[in-house]
Amino acid sequence: MDPSELLTGIIRTLGLTALVVLGYSWVIRKFSGGLTKGAAVGFLFALGGIISMNDPIRFEPGVIYDGRTALLALAYPYGGPIGTLIALAAMTAYRIWIGGIGSLSGVIGMVATALIGFACTRIPVRKLKIGPARSLLIGIAASTSLAAIILLPHEIMMTLVGIPLVTVIIANIAGVILLSEFLEREKSRQRIMRALEHEASVDPLTKLQNRRAFDRAALRAMNDNRSKSHQCSLVMIDIDHFKAINDRWGHDAGDTVLAEVATIIRKNVRITDVVVRYGGEEIVLLLTNTPQSAAIELAESVRSHIEQTQFESGDQSLGVTISAGVASLSDRFHDMDAVMKAADRALYRAKSGGRNRVEMA
Ligand code: GH3
Ligand code: MG
Ligand code: MG
Repeated sequence: MDPSELLTGIIRTLGLTALVVLGYSWVIRKFSGGLTKGAAVGFLFALGGIISMNDPIRFEPGVIYDGRTALLALAYPYGGPIGTLIALAAMTAYRIWIGGIGSLSGVIGMVATALIGFACTRIPVRKLKIGPARSLLIGIAASTSLAAIILLPHEIMMTLVGIPLVTVIIANIAGVILLSEFLEREKSRQRIMRALEHEASVDPLTKLQNRRAFDRAALRAMNDNRSKSHQCSLVMIDIDHFKAINDRWGHDAGDTVLAEVATIIRKNVRITDVVVRYGGEEIVLLLTNTPQSAAIELAESVRSHIEQTQFESGDQSLGVTISAGVASLSDRFHDMDAVMKAADRALYRAKSGGRNRVEMA
């Protein structure tokens, strides 16, 4: 084979890497569950392998080289057991379908490569968990699967020994290093983006969600409410005489009270409920799938918990109460804005009625 043909073939094969990385970026954004993500990575790698097998470097009739080695070697590190099984099964089936003299050694090489990828993740060395050292190891180890060429007829095998084999080994190692480097970058880019998104929607003092998150949740709740006739309720909570707590015990004690009140509220709601620090010492609960009567019960339970809690400030303990207004999406209040206003009016009534109480719209 002409060396320039081999080189362009390898570059073409490595070019597929970019497409696989693009796909991987989409997969890790779309799928969060381990199993579904693993399966999606498996299908993606399988697709990459099959496309690559369609456009291989042909050494002899039926003896081909393509980018599947790098994909299979990295199937376990990135797709786990499910991803590996899917990628291996699909690529093996396709290789058998292509047929030719090299198909048996091809299939054995593929199984060996997938197993090597798995074995490399089991090496109990921290340094080898990620990074170029691991990629180099996987690349070198995966190339040992090329030993399967001994299954080819002797004269064909001998035509591969030498420059073609060395070139293929280098291409395998370079392929694994490049692909895993890009996949790793993509993973850490997504991790940073998720952390930033989290930071942008969470209040640092109370660890509750902020108004930006509330607007998104309110929109979602409205849509659910329309489409599934789920009832959605809203509780607006305000700490009583909070200014006096600050004035008497100091701003830091006020902060502690606020954070503890937030914790008590979070412990009393379901994981699906949205708890938002709406303003200074105002907390709003968006309760999906909750009729007004259940929302009132919940607000009452929160109120009573807080009333019974002794908040510590230095060696002093202080009592705190809250007032709450409850309203629900209904014929009377058919959008979130109307519900908010109604809950706010109910809260005002709770305050003017003596505080430490729950009122409904
Ligand atoms: P009411 O029972 O009518 O609600 O009385 P209040 O004193 O709680 O109400 P007001 O709105 O007059 O005062 C709210 C106070 O909350 C004023 C503000 O300094 C304080 N505050 C707002 N955010 C924070 C915070 O993050 N930390 C602390 N320590 N205080 C805060
Ligand atoms: Mg207040
Ligand atoms: Mg207030």
